[in-house]
Amino acid sequence: MTVERTLSIIKPDATRRNLTGKINAKFEDAGLKIVAQRRIQLSKAQAEAFYAVHSHRPFFNDLVSFMISGPVVAQVLEGENAVLKNREIMGATDPKKADAGTIRAEFAESIEANSVHGSDAPEAAAQEISFFFAAIDIVA
Ligand code: ATP
Ligand code: MG
Repeated sequence: MTVERTLSIIKPDATRRNLTGKINAKFEDAGLKIVAQRRIQLSKAQAEAFYAVHSHRPFFNDLVSFMISGPVVAQVLEGENAVLKNREIMGATDPKKADAGTIRAEFAESIEANSVHGSDAPEAAAQEISFFFAAIDIVA
């Protein structure tokens, strides 16, 4: 087993409904530790840069508009197999397909406003963590 870190974002639909604590409880109850956390308002350029991998998808402009529609909470989660474990805690992208008990099943409003982001691979996690945090910000 390897201790990993992954980048999580609590999205604007969730911060607007004051769900940060309930979502953080899901991570902590599943054994992930929040080792860095920042609440920020992304600019359009920052959201476009973060989601650059999706720039050719038809939903890109709507996704960027949504991600800057309110504050987000960027966080680093640490634990055994944190990348995959967080994807399990989050549930499927489309909340209608998400397993019961997952964050998206319980809280997401739609396939776009789906409450959380999580890195999808260790390489992506390292790159996404460095987008939001310096090494000195992460305290295990
Ligand atoms: P995330 O990257 O946010 O953790 P994900 O990996 O489950 O989510 P991706 O395929 O990477 O899903 O899509 C990134 C985000 O783009 C989704 O979380 C969602 O907000 C939005 N999105 C994905 N597919 C659609 C779609 N068909 N229509 C609208 N928005 C979408
Ligand atoms: Mg993704």
